Amino acid sequence: MKECYCNIALPVPLRTTFTYFVPEPLRERVQPGSRVLVPFRKKSLVGVAVEMTETVPDGAQIRDVSRVLDLTPALPPKLLELGQWIAGYYLAPIGEVFRAMLPPQTEISWKRQIVLTETGRALAAKLQGRGVLTDLEGNEAEFLEKLLEKKRGLTLTPRNRLGIPPLAFERLELRGYIEVRETVEGRKRKTQQVAAWRVKDAYTQTLGEKEERIRALLETERGPLPVAQLLKLAQVSRALIERMLRDGLLESWEEPVDPAEDPFETGYRPSAHALNLTQESAFKAIRGRFELGGFGVQLLHGVTGSGKTEVYLRSVQETLARGKTAIVLVPEIALTLWIGRQCRAWFGAQFEGVAVLHSALSDVERAREWWRVRNGQARVVVGTRSAVFAPVENLGLIIVDEEQENSYKQEETPRYHGRDVAIVRAKLENGTALLGSATPSLETYHNAINGKYELLTMATRVENRSLAAVEIVDMREDFQHTHQTSPISSALHTGIGECLSFQTQALVLINRRGYSWSMLCRSCGAAVECVNCSISMTYHKSRNRLECHYCGSLQAVPKACPKCHSKYVYFFGEGSEHLEERLRKEFTGARIARLDRDTARTKQQYQETLGAFRSGALDILVGTQMLAKGHDFQRVTLVGVVSADSSLSLPDFRAAERTFQLLTQVAGRAGRGELPGRVLIQSYYPEHYAIQDAVRQDYVSFYERELHFRRMMAYPPFTSLANVIVRDTNLDNAIKWSRRLSEYFSPHDGKAVRVLGPASAPLARLKREHRYQFLLKSPRRSVLTKLLNGALAFCEANEIPGKALLVDMDPVMLS
Ligand code: ADP
Ligand code: ZN
Ligand code: ZN
Repeated sequence: MKECYCNIALPVPLRTTFTYFVPEPLRERVQPGSRVLVPFRKKSLVGVAVEMTETVPDGAQIRDVSRVLDLTPALPPKLLELGQWIAGYYLAPIGEVFRAMLPPQTEISWKRQIVLTETGRALAAKLQGRGVLTDLEGNEAEFLEKLLEKKRGLTLTPRNRLGIPPLAFERLELRGYIEVRETVEGRKRKTQQVAAWRVKDAYTQTLGEKEERIRALLETERGPLPVAQLLKLAQVSRALIERMLRDGLLESWEEPVDPAEDPFETGYRPSAHALNLTQESAFKAIRGRFELGGFGVQLLHGVTGSGKTEVYLRSVQETLARGKTAIVLVPEIALTLWIGRQCRAWFGAQFEGVAVLHSALSDVERAREWWRVRNGQARVVVGTRSAVFAPVENLGLIIVDEEQENSYKQEETPRYHGRDVAIVRAKLENGTALLGSATPSLETYHNAINGKYELLTMATRVENRSLAAVEIVDMREDFQHTHQTSPISSALHTGIGECLSFQTQALVLINRRGYSWSMLCRSCGAAVECVNCSISMTYHKSRNRLECHYCGSLQAVPKACPKCHSKYVYFFGEGSEHLEERLRKEFTGARIARLDRDTARTKQQYQETLGAFRSGALDILVGTQMLAKGHDFQRVTLVGVVSADSSLSLPDFRAAERTFQLLTQVAGRAGRGELPGRVLIQSYYPEHYAIQDAVRQDYVSFYERELHFRRMMAYPPFTSLANVIVRDTNLDNAIKWSRRLSEYFSPHDGKAVRVLGPASAPLARLKREHRYQFLLKSPRRSVLTKLLNGALAFCEANEIPGKALLVDMDPVMLS
């Protein structure tokens, strides 16, 4: 007997595959990458066939594969390979890795379509002319002709096959006349017509007043809009829109009405500019890379507003022109929408060829998009982190926009980093990885300086717009003068006052939501902590309760200290809710709104607030980091950052890097229109280099200083890190297991690897679990991998349950 067994990866937390027997009728259908249904313990599980084998592990009781789900294997060979790399590198169970790579499979019905191949189509067309000699037998010819009539193919059911004998069916498939495609059936959705401005270069036509209004809306103010909305906003007739479509001034397409598709109405404008010289030279280098062929990584380091998107789009276009496919990764869902739309507008005629993948889609929608990609119908994929697994074949380019963003890191098993996986994928597929950022992560920039990646720089904003002027407000000095403890310095107060009198707008940023960070007791000094986590509860005034921002638990506001029953409790640390209240007091009559996770509970609230601000119905917008990214407000002349440095004191070696990135991003929000912008950064540590360099918006200077610190402290990029957490709801277990594990680790502590811990984790208790931490550092990652593999085997042998152990390779958060 040959290769009648198959090793299958199953979605269970075990780092192994399982061997099953493949019964004769299924054998032809099972290939590496196919999804199969198998019995496992008392359940049926969907797994992925990894390899066929002749041998069976000794003494194993072998069960049968019960079904094969795929006709074409769901995972193409390169993704199978990528999954195995991830499982090895991140020490994750292989079955759970594949589950993360596959489309959702709940509540969908599979539909298999039999369609003609091109050869089949040609043959069938000839048959219609009759009297042709063919190698067809029996009623095969009839079957092909029947298929030719059915434009969308025949749905494969047992009855269709009855049309011809099963053998004939296989024969036709083998000879390449027909093929079977798998598609997913979901509920039908309503669509709407969306219009976009089309004219790309110089205007050759003079526009009427109404046409001009439409142009302004679609090109600069709002971006592509549903036609119904456009009619209302521009106050024009449908006939005019139709005429403009005919004249080629507009283009339009159908988009689902389902609001899940459009979680944040963004108001970005589609770009369609001729590249300027800086962009042109970056693009040339990218094209040069394509011409070289083979694998390579490029870093596009461009300041905020340098026009990176435009360069991405050209690169995708170039990739398509070369007959290859492209993936564009963006850090958040709102951006998939914007870039997805731009891609559609750009690759207009073939917009069907663009797929969008992110977690806010329903399972059915995600599965549908996934299969469109797998079937080769979409050649450009735009998406968040997991779109790095999009099943395109012949991948030429993978773009990672804002590569430094933490959202690329998955914080649950498999704990992979989307950017790093993108690079490995590009390598497997012999393609280009293009990383883009205004503030690249230290690791990435280091690789670019070392020559491991090619560095492309865009140092100026488009149209020579200047970067905003950034000033520091030293809060210690401010206090000396004013003796006020208000988080709004006198400079910020004056600045906002000026905005109000000149009728421009101000953004005020604060990094915490809620009214007060904590509730403290004057008698015993204790803070009110969450019952599940070792974190103080945040006071929310309007809802009059305490909330835990880690696990979401709620508490009534106590009248007395829960520990010592003293009545002298007070609130400490101001959050966004408090700041809004203060602004209202200090600027009576100003139109103020707040944007954070509490006020923007729904997409609609989020959109309404942003829309109101953009339209000028608000003077001041106060909020959290939500405000920092991406928005293009034209009338903002002042951005104030309250307590810019509270993130500096976090117990994490990346604290300075995060602070610098956030401040540079924020500074990028001011002065985007005609009006010059000003940024005020309030700080208690104004001499810190992260703040100083952010003020000058000098990335390279920051990089050099931070690199020095990393070298001194032996942190990445000079070492590799792994974070191991031992956790359990029972404190005794957590202590016992971490002690036991330390017996394994401590003999290894030395030159090749440093083992720090076990120590209480920064978040000593989280969601009811007690947590102990080991931090491993080594100049060589392979040493870490080996040690961790040993640790996992040790745990298994010493009855430390798998779920008590959390292993994080290249951690982004150390808590
Ligand atoms: P980045 O992502 O680098 O911060 P964007 O790609 O968002 O910058 O571009 C900033 C703005 O500049 C956008 O409004 C875009 O339409 C515009 N833009 C891009 N390229 C050009 C160009 N060559 N000429 C004029 N404007 C441009
Ligand atoms: Zn007390
Ligand atoms: Zn909690």
